[in-house]
Amino acid sequence: MRDAWILSIGTELTLGQTVDTNAPWLARELAALGLRCAEMRTISDDLEPITRSIRAACEAERVILITGGLGPTDDDLTRNAIAVAAEVDLELCPRSLDALRAFFAARGRDMPDRNQVQAMIPRGATAIDNTCGTAPGIHTRLSGADIFAMPGVPYEMKTMFHRDVAPALRAFGGGAVLLSRIVRTCGLPEATLGRKIATLMTRGRNPEVGTTASLSEIGVRINATAPSREQAATMLDQTEAEIRNRLGDIVYGRDDDTLAGAVGGLLRARSATLALAESCTGGLIGELMTDIAGSSEYFLGGVISYANSAKRDLLGVRPETLDQHGAVSEQSAIEMAIGARKALGADFALSVTGIAGPGGGSTEKPVGLVYIGIANPTAAIAREYHLGFDSPRDVIRQRAARVALNELRRHLLRDQAK
Ligand code: AMP
Ligand code: MG
Repeated sequence: MRDAWILSIGTELTLGQTVDTNAPWLARELAALGLRCAEMRTISDDLEPITRSIRAACEAERVILITGGLGPTDDDLTRNAIAVAAEVDLELCPRSLDALRAFFAARGRDMPDRNQVQAMIPRGATAIDNTCGTAPGIHTRLSGADIFAMPGVPYEMKTMFHRDVAPALRAFGGGAVLLSRIVRTCGLPEATLGRKIATLMTRGRNPEVGTTASLSEIGVRINATAPSREQAATMLDQTEAEIRNRLGDIVYGRDDDTLAGAVGGLLRARSATLALAESCTGGLIGELMTDIAGSSEYFLGGVISYANSAKRDLLGVRPETLDQHGAVSEQSAIEMAIGARKALGADFALSVTGIAGPGGGSTEKPVGLVYIGIANPTAAIAREYHLGFDSPRDVIRQRAARVALNELRRHLLRDQAK
């Protein structure tokens, strides 16, 4: 399988003024064609660094996709950089010049002189038609590498890629495909999870397995390369089954599945309903639950009980509890869950109370301390979590929401097993 590099050209990108959406889009398209993107570079509109990266990319017989820098102005230097890297001159491509003139004529305008430069391409290269803009693309071979330069404007780039570049690349992929899947987990630290699947994560294994951690969740990525889609899909299935076997019930789904969706599925399966009592998460769990279409079937609503008075007046948390244990305590979490369950007439209730910081922490109750309570028809419990004393407020809140949903998910699973 040939490696690919993607070079995104533009000072607006390197200054962070425009987000590079071309490179990730192209990387996914490449994977579907059986080509792996090994490196992405973002380069300012300067001749030397663009030329240097093109030369570096050409070292192995790679596929090099370049976007941007094909405009008519002086800061558009991609065509010059390819010419310098190839040690050739730019020359006029009559076909591109005709296409440019036709583009302007179709809009009732004369072609400005400065656009003529867009019809200049490095000697030995082929112009790629631009059917929706002015800048033609460029295809050339250099030291065994294939370079495709496309416009930066995303829809022009995508149109050109689908029309002319992808068909050319299909031949390079040798018909192989790369299929990916993410197994979604919550409930184990990355290192512990990694140990359980270490033998699947050895370098060079196909399918390749790796982990990505974010906000208390860990995604286990599987990339399978095979001669056909069917074979790649079977390999994904086998590796996913092995991962599920080793990780057990910390796995809650795959790809676009969410924790809230998994909780919803479990509630729906038993025709049960849910109420929430959120303090430090301020409604985040309610948002995650209601993100799921059809959640009204099992989600009744929630109380954002931020102040002590709200915990007391809306949820019936006892003043003694708040006085003796504080709002952030196991006891308060339990009473919040019981109160929400009663107030909304739900089968289950989930409560969260904690210290999201940055202020408000103490030695006894540090920032990141969170209690998660669950009330079911017969009992209520709460658990203590430490979600990072030095993490930013939004991270602690997002983690708390996910850990709470996961706590409920595992409660429902255990309950089901009984
Ligand atoms: P260019 O082909 O360099 O003249 O780029 C034209 C326009 O396309 C720029 O002004 C950007 O707004 C946009 N653009 C260029 N490169 C990218 C990229 N990698 N991702 C998203 N937009 C881009
Ligand atoms: Mg540009």
